[in-house]
Amino acid sequence: MSQLHSTPESEANRCSAHPLREAVGRFEARTSIMGGGLKIRRALPLEQKRLIGPWCFLDHFGPLRLEPNQKGMSVGPHPHIGLQTVTWLIEGEVLHRDSLGYQGVIRPGELNVMTAGRGISHSEESPEGRPDTMHGLQMWVALPEAERRREPAFDHYAEVPTVELSGASAHVFAGSFHGATSPATFYSPIVGIDVEVNASGTHELPVDASFEHGLLVTQGALEVNGHRLEIGGLLAFAPGVSALSVTADEGTRYAVVGGAPFGEPIVLWWNFVARTVEEIEAARDQWNAQDPIFGEVHGFDGPSLEPPTLRPIPEPG
Ligand code: MN
Repeated sequence: MSQLHSTPESEANRCSAHPLREAVGRFEARTSIMGGGLKIRRALPLEQKRLIGPWCFLDHFGPLRLEPNQKGMSVGPHPHIGLQTVTWLIEGEVLHRDSLGYQGVIRPGELNVMTAGRGISHSEESPEGRPDTMHGLQMWVALPEAERRREPAFDHYAEVPTVELSGASAHVFAGSFHGATSPATFYSPIVGIDVEVNASGTHELPVDASFEHGLLVTQGALEVNGHRLEIGGLLAFAPGVSALSVTADEGTRYAVVGGAPFGEPIVLWWNFVARTVEEIEAARDQWNAQDPIFGEVHGFDGPSLEPPTLRPIPEPG
């Protein structure tokens, strides 16, 4: 577990729903590099916090301004198994292409959910004529045992419901929040919202007390249940919390992800979520052998991604 920071790209990470020692945990996102050479903040998995509900990967990229000659995002074809990817933009555009034949641009307010199941591959890039700003969240949800080998699928939603709170608007991209439900299908109890503060002061978010929750600031800074939070930090709340009281200035923006503590330990490596290192090795070998289980991505101008060297960590205990 201790080598997550030093060799983030090659260690197979065993992740389970370690309960927080206290009701609230504060963590710092680490810096990582996204395809295209852009620096991003990775808030999950962290050495001390691997999962929040079924959320097992949480990248915050931007806000950044691209130079006219800069490509922006450029992530060549790569495979996934055992997870769903969730793409949510605050600014900018991303062009997605996948092995099922879907190709399309996502914009702020829209939602992409790709269910990898037994295997899929895709590429992501800044499209031609893109705006010069980029800001968003790229997240993964682990699929539970009964669903993790399902047929792959890709879904684009032109909009998600918005809940108007006193002082804030919450866009519901996963699960249900305050009577509104995301159009996307997920396979374990989950929530994901993007909150825009539109009046300075304090607003209350009613949340499911059976869930654990994580908060991430994407713009500005805030205080939640007495804890200060800025960009780059992650606050995790253990189950038992039924309301988040947020104090922030107008213009602040933050995301909340949560869910029932995920009951299955997972192994996460590169773009794969599995249960054993052997499964990870098998998926890697299939990708390297261009096994049809991952299909083919057409139209991306560049090479497919090659997996790093896998260095499995020992079984815990
Ligand atoms: Mn991907």
